[in-house]
Amino acid sequence: MVQKSGEHQILQSRHLQHLEDRLDVESVADLLEAVLPSARRPLPLHEPTFGGNEWSYVKECLDTGWVSSAGSYVDRLEGMLSEYTGAKHAIATVNGTAALFICLKLVGVGPGDEVLVPSLTFVATANAVKYCGAVPHFVESDERTMGIDADKLADYLKEIAKLQSDGCFNKQSGARIKALVPMHTFGHPTDLDPLLELCERFGLELVEDAAESLGSYYKGRHTGCFGKTSALSFNGNKVVTTGGGGAILTNDASIANLAKHLTTTARISHRWSFVHDQIGYNYRLPNINAALGCAQLEQLPRFLEQKRLLAKKYADAFRDVFGVRIFTERPFARSNYWLNVLILDEPYAHQRDEVLEVTQRRGLMTRPTWTPMHKLAMYQGSPKMQLSITENLEQRIVNLPSSASLVG
Ligand SMILES: *Cc1c(COP(=O)(O)O)cnc(C)c1O
Repeated sequence: MVQKSGEHQILQSRHLQHLEDRLDVESVADLLEAVLPSARRPLPLHEPTFGGNEWSYVKECLDTGWVSSAGSYVDRLEGMLSEYTGAKHAIATVNGTAALFICLKLVGVGPGDEVLVPSLTFVATANAVKYCGAVPHFVESDERTMGIDADKLADYLKEIAKLQSDGCFNKQSGARIKALVPMHTFGHPTDLDPLLELCERFGLELVEDAAESLGSYYKGRHTGCFGKTSALSFNGNKVVTTGGGGAILTNDASIANLAKHLTTTARISHRWSFVHDQIGYNYRLPNINAALGCAQLEQLPRFLEQKRLLAKKYADAFRDVFGVRIFTERPFARSNYWLNVLILDEPYAHQRDEVLEVTQRRGLMTRPTWTPMHKLAMYQGSPKMQLSITENLEQRIVNLPSSASLVG
């Protein structure tokens, strides 16, 4: 590793002679340690911060007995989410995976359909498609966004898709291609405009997996406001947490009503009768979790400031370092920097595990990205396009400790 200039030059150049064709991994770890507080080891990848009204809101649930399926915090959380994101409607759910599953059902994804999803994602994206009886069709990612590569997808669809009056069909499988699910990887907004255009051209529904991107904006608008429906997650490792939880966002009032209905066992409202008009789901977020969420959302602006500052520190530390870089937001994006990303340059991809080992030995809980979906046993037979960038990125991405609490 060679340093172009700056304060770390001496540190780096010490290793130059015998390490010129290898990444000096110990020096990478030194640079990380210089950014991070030294008081505590191990340092988790991402942990929540409870510094606001969490105790008092949760205590109120316990004191009043409203812990479960009724109580005011669910409505309050939904109102806060709608106001914060600008989505007209927000429906809280038991987790992000359930939210995404219902999002897909709401746009009409059904048995036998294919849904275009990135292979570089958390397994929930593909699983939610499967829960609909549909088939995930894996598409390539772009190194500049870590999200779906719209240009390559356009070329691919021109080749494999045919448009009929009743929708878009895969010429090879014969299945209807119903929807496209972009995911905002590690909080970085993907380039949505060309994807929206593709959906328009091929008659596909856009559903955003915005599980990682609460607080992230694309061209000034909050992510999750571009799809017909979108899913958020408040799992314990996300930007804000409800313990476990998620939400569906939509601008369509009738979809919002149906989302609420489906996620609350499809019960017809009545003073005493239990009548359900279809097979619904018990996916409602408990009030006690919503209480936690309200307290967390109140602190989101501060969390975002801290996370963006941490990202800047990482970026500054590695600015002039050859061999690696820190992923930074694109000009069209304002990112929540949920998980920071160190990307190894191509020639050093084979040293990824060494980076993981050295940093973890020092108590820094780094981790590789997800195994791409098309490599998982249950998805190996799924349709896919050429995924060489996805496989290449898998070898080069290392996630760095990113908790908001790591900055003052
Ligand atoms: C976290 C996450 C989900 C699902 O969230 P849960 O709340 O854990 O069910 C879905 N997709 C992506 C990309 C995620 O990171």
